Amino acid sequence: MDKIRFATVWLTGCSGCHMSFLDLDEWLFELAKAAEIVYSPISSDIKEYPAGVDLVLVEGGVGNQDNLNLIKKVRQNSKVLVSFGDCAISANVPGMRNMLGGCKSVLERSYLELTDNNAQIPSQSDILPVLLDQVLPIHQVVEVDFFLPGCPPSSEHIKNTLMALLEGKTPSIVDPEILRFG
Ligand code: SF4
Repeated sequence: MDKIRFATVWLTGCSGCHMSFLDLDEWLFELAKAAEIVYSPISSDIKEYPAGVDLVLVEGGVGNQDNLNLIKKVRQNSKVLVSFGDCAISANVPGMRNMLGGCKSVLERSYLELTDNNAQIPSQSDILPVLLDQVLPIHQVVEVDFFLPGCPPSSEHIKNTLMALLEGKTPSIVDPEILRFG
């Protein structure tokens, strides 16, 4: 059987969803029999998102220009995109800054008001990617095929979702535990 080309992507999130993915533990060996990981922050240092990805889990909201460029490429190069965790689905924790009046006030608070010495806002985009005024859920930027809620989603829900998708089925989200916010 040909392996599917599988990826995971980390946008503006705390990486907790990826930690939950790692909690799949020995099932990761089962996954490795069916899927080749071609891009992921937990498996390699590949910089460019590759073409021809069959299935991708995307953690985090779209919070800066790098996220925006990457998610567009991810969508273009992936057949099935799963919005992975509450930050991807609703902006969740990083989205708390959305009510603070745009990125300017957030940067000033972080880099000027709370700094003791040499207060300055980084101006080079390779040091600090240009923030968007709002952290956006992924589906507000690109089309999403499936949503996997939770903060983070439990490894059991991740496993059930991946098993369904690997079998070409639609993952079930009727379990109230899966739909519970947070
Ligand atoms: S959904 Fe929760 S665990 Fe996942 S990235 Fe956001 S804050 Fe972290």
